[in-house]
Amino acid sequence: MGLTVVSGTGHTWRLTEQIGSGSEGFVYGVDDARPLVAKLVPDPPDPEAYRRRVARLVRQRREPRTVGLLSGTPVRLAWPLAAVHAADATGADRVDGYVMTDMRHAYQPFNHLLTPAARRTFLPRATWATALRAALALARLLADLHAEGYVVGDLKPDNLWVDDTGRVGMADVDSWQFTDGREVFQGRMRTPGYTAPERIGAPAGTLPDTASDDFALAVLAHQLLMAGLHPFAGHPADGGDYLSYDDNVLHGRCRLVDRTSVLLPRTAPPADLLPRRLAELFRTAFRNARRRPTAAEWARALAAELAPGRLKVCAVNAHHLHTVERPWCPWCDQAERDADSYPGPPREDI
Ligand SMILES: [Zn+2]
Repeated sequence: MGLTVVSGTGHTWRLTEQIGSGSEGFVYGVDDARPLVAKLVPDPPDPEAYRRRVARLVRQRREPRTVGLLSGTPVRLAWPLAAVHAADATGADRVDGYVMTDMRHAYQPFNHLLTPAARRTFLPRATWATALRAALALARLLADLHAEGYVVGDLKPDNLWVDDTGRVGMADVDSWQFTDGREVFQGRMRTPGYTAPERIGAPAGTLPDTASDDFALAVLAHQLLMAGLHPFAGHPADGGDYLSYDDNVLHGRCRLVDRTSVLLPRTAPPADLLPRRLAELFRTAFRNARRRPTAAEWARALAAELAPGRLKVCAVNAHHLHTVERPWCPWCDQAERDADSYPGPPREDI
């Protein structure tokens, strides 16, 4: 397609195929020996502010707080490596963006672990332990980001990556909220279903904070541990119409908080598959904004559930793992309703 981008130092990359698009921009493959992709944002609300935001992030990559976040393999963050822009021959219609690590090199889209059909196809060996490890990895990553002063702001599956061992990566760093010197770069984005109740319907200038990230973390952890089920899923039990996750959030319709508030299909994973301590953390997270557990609290609680002796393997299906607190297998209960969330690989692959 002939599209090229240029960095501030004059380095040129040829873009290959478009591999993704979101509300803010487009992601392209990059012709380079390293696994890189480029994100271009054609129409940011304030182009000058967006260029400054990317430039600051590129510079912060060398700062001790960020170097720590980027240590380890595979890298957990698709951090902006270089600011780039594309322009036509006359220099008009400049489009800004940046080059980053191609997360596809080490990870799969996070939704592969959440969606039953995708899980069967792409992560057939995933078990509840994989989900638990992914929730822990996500909680640790978020706790590390918060400790260094970063707020994700738009934490959601589309910005996340996962591998078959439950490691988690994050992209869209350019939408975060952070400070650089005395300048605050605000987070603007929010996504239905992952927005804390105090931000739903709030004026556009209402900024995210670590507590709103912690709400999204609780939603994602619930989805992971409940085989994809959103904590605010379900039809209102009072006979009203289902409008949206956000409507259920605002009205406190959540099976874990009040099991009489919603109607769910009988194929949904049983609510009592959660260990008591995690169930209590979810209830606090969804019921009480002031006592919402932090990412670090989640990390401690999730790590405890992965300790030796805390998981049990089902006698019927070796891919059925569950907490020792539950005397019998929740996935077998589900299988009896023709909805086994963890059937394991198809027979010929075993
Ligand atoms: Zn079982």
